Amino acid sequence: MGWISPNARCPLCGASVYFYANEQGSRVFFDELGPPWPKHPCTDNPTRQVTTAGGRQAPSPRDFSIAQRPSGMRDRRWKPYVVKDITIEDGQPQITLRPLNGAGRGTSWTVSELLPLRAHDVVFVRADQMSYFDRDAFEPAVAENARRAATIAQKLITERDKEHVLATLTARVDAGEMTLDGMTDATVAVHAARTRGELADALKLRVTDLKVAPPRPGDLWLLAIAFALMAGATSAAEGGPSFLMMLPGLLLMATAVYRLNPDMERGPRILLAVVTALVAICPAGVLGGAIQVEILHR
Ligand SMILES: [Zn+2]
Repeated sequence: MGWISPNARCPLCGASVYFYANEQGSRVFFDELGPPWPKHPCTDNPTRQVTTAGGRQAPSPRDFSIAQRPSGMRDRRWKPYVVKDITIEDGQPQITLRPLNGAGRGTSWTVSELLPLRAHDVVFVRADQMSYFDRDAFEPAVAENARRAATIAQKLITERDKEHVLATLTARVDAGEMTLDGMTDATVAVHAARTRGELADALKLRVTDLKVAPPRPGDLWLLAIAFALMAGATSAAEGGPSFLMMLPGLLLMATAVYRLNPDMERGPRILLAVVTALVAICPAGVLGGAIQVEILHR
């Protein structure tokens, strides 16, 4: 059981602080709610009394209304949501969320285990991760979207991905996130890994935290050139766009998309490359048409 007060004032500096308290008398003070959960520096001593205007209260969206004010301390990439309800579906907990400010669409999350959350709790979502205050551990925690994580975990990895993550190991040892022994073990496990899930296990990371090798800049240029060729072909075409004039751009785009997806199986990879190139005809045609109109008006 935990409590949140957004109306507390720091007894030392008078600043507005937020705190979580539980019935065992533990308290933790934050300058701002949500990632990166900045702790208020004056109140590290847990025995200090903090005055509250609203008294003790259970967490509710209303309590967090102050937290919506941009203060610059919270990472705005994490969007606040309110827990609507928690159900069990197919043996997995499912959390229904609605946006804290009421605008926009709600979302549904499948998590791998029951989290210490209840209806009306406020959580923060970014991509496939959810940050929340764990009332049992009494500290901020992160959960993965289990369904998405399972999909990502199955993706195959390349030798280039392995080289990329091995290159980051030294940095993790320097940052104190990993010991030298841990690095040796991780190196062996990375070499044996075949999928992103195995790679994340080897590095003791969440699969949604894993960063595989970024696309080669050359392949991104190839994509841009292919698109420019296609737009150029449509803008030059008299009347309707000619498929033959588009062909070099189409082939180049398919090649670029193929090269940009090295973790896919060969069959789906070719299909994706071809379909993307064909779909790209539409925006390329629109751009080409716009260029043509611009030329005609001069
Ligand atoms: Zn203070």
